[in-house]
Order: sequence, then structure tokens, then C-alpha cells
Amino acid sequence: MTKDLKAILTTEACRRFRDRAVKNYCPYCGQRLVDRLWEGAVRRFCRRCEQPIYENPVPAVCAVVPNPDGQILLVQRGVAPKKGFWCLPGGFMELGEKPEAAVLRELREETGLGGYVEGLLGLRSTPSRMYHTILLAVYVVTPENAPLMAGDDATAACWFQPADMPPIAFNSHRAFIRQYHSGAFQKPASRAALP
Ligand SMILES: [Zn+2]
Repeated sequence: MTKDLKAILTTEACRRFRDRAVKNYCPYCGQRLVDRLWEGAVRRFCRRCEQPIYENPVPAVCAVVPNPDGQILLVQRGVAPKKGFWCLPGGFMELGEKPEAAVLRELREETGLGGYVEGLLGLRSTPSRMYHTILLAVYVVTPENAPLMAGDDATAACWFQPADMPPIAFNSHRAFIRQYHSGAFQKPASRAALP
């Protein structure tokens, strides 16, 4: 092990990384992976494939869904992490899926609501115990009239006044709700083109 590699492995950031989502085996050939200094960073490396295994954030989407009374739609989580806490409806993008389609799919699965994507509220990189880093894209969605019906990972779906929010599961969701209520989101003149 080189001196450089040793120095990097002992940094706090690297320890945090190793404690969480480290791959032990090559996803292509099954060989046990090693650490190697590669392009300025310590990366998992497969000696059989002779290539590093690049790790990237996992893309996820969620929706800020306001109603005409100024309430925001939240869902209660039925699964870990933060089971029983509330959050914005959302989830992970599927392969080949556009983010706007993903957010409408998640909204329908978790609340029974359809809707229109008005635009992107923001992007945020958030730490995750299971996935290391999640890239979260948050859209503002105008709901269609339909009865709320919790489903999928959500055990309940409900509208909440900004001043009367239940315990929110994730700091990033809390920040986006605040950002929306601060008036940061400007509705575009035309709605986002969807697939
Ligand atoms: Zn391999």
C-alpha cells in the first residue's frame, strides 16, 4: 500500500464511506475487490477485469404537491428507514425512465393521485446509509382531483398545513418544503413535456 493510499484511507470521509455501501465483489465477474488509488481517489478495483468499479449517486425523485388550500401532500412511511415518519411522495427512478415520469409513477403508487409536473423545484445530494449518496430531484406537481388512497410503501397519505406538519423523515424533504413555502418556485409559462 502506498503512503498516499494509506493517507486517504484514514480520512474521515473515507471511513464513513467504508462503513456504509462498500461493494466487496465485482458485479461483472464475481472476483473479490480491492482498494486502489485510481484517478485521484480510492476506488474499489477488480484485478480480474483490470478496471475500477465506479460508484455513483443513486437518482431518486419526489414531489411537492400543493392543493388550492395551500396544504402539502405527505405520505407516512410503511418501511424502514424512518418507518412511521412522514415524507414527500417519491422513490427511485427505474432504468430508462424519465425523472418526470418517475415522479408521477411514484405519486400514483403511493397516493392514488395523478397530476401534472409544473417544473423542477431543486436538486440535492443527500447521504444514505444504504446507498451512500442519493441524488434527489424534487418536482412541483399539480394534482388531479381524485380520492387519496395510500399504497405501495406508504401506509397513509394526507394533506397538511405548513404550520401543522407531522415529524418529517428526511432533512432534505423538510428543506424542500421550506423552499417551496418561501416562494422560491416560479411556475413556468408552459408545463414540462412528458413522455
Ligand atoms: Zn471483475
